[in-house]
Amino acid sequence: MILLTKHFDFEMAHALMGYPGKCRNIHGHSYKMEVTVTGEMQPDTGMVMDFKALKDLVNDIIVNKLDHALVLSDQVDHTLIETLRAHYDKIVLFPFQPSTENMLAHFATLLRPQLPSNVRLYSIRLHETDTSFAEWREE
Ligand SMILES: [Zn+2]
Repeated sequence: MILLTKHFDFEMAHALMGYPGKCRNIHGHSYKMEVTVTGEMQPDTGMVMDFKALKDLVNDIIVNKLDHALVLSDQVDHTLIETLRAHYDKIVLFPFQPSTENMLAHFATLLRPQLPSNVRLYSIRLHETDTSFAEWREE
């Protein structure tokens, strides 16, 4: 079995609504993400998937939308959202708390149907800090 992994970096702010600690405040992370795929080797190219194709796909679907964005749950007060949108370009609302775990599950749902037919998503690892990461894996 061959696993292909591409590494991504993005800067994102978020706040965990109702969280009983300092993460309820707006704060940012320098996220590091590794997307790993596997699949059938293509005899004509000698590749499972072109690294550039994987990079472009993940950038399109995830990284470009979240890099330098403020990400909040869509349950946050709508007046606040309107005020933020009046002053900032990149406010992203998710229908869930923007925790590392929830974002991973969301990323997997977005990516899986976009991969070439010979390729499947194996794992996504998302580092929130140098010492903390969560990993999604296909069960
Ligand atoms: Zn955080």
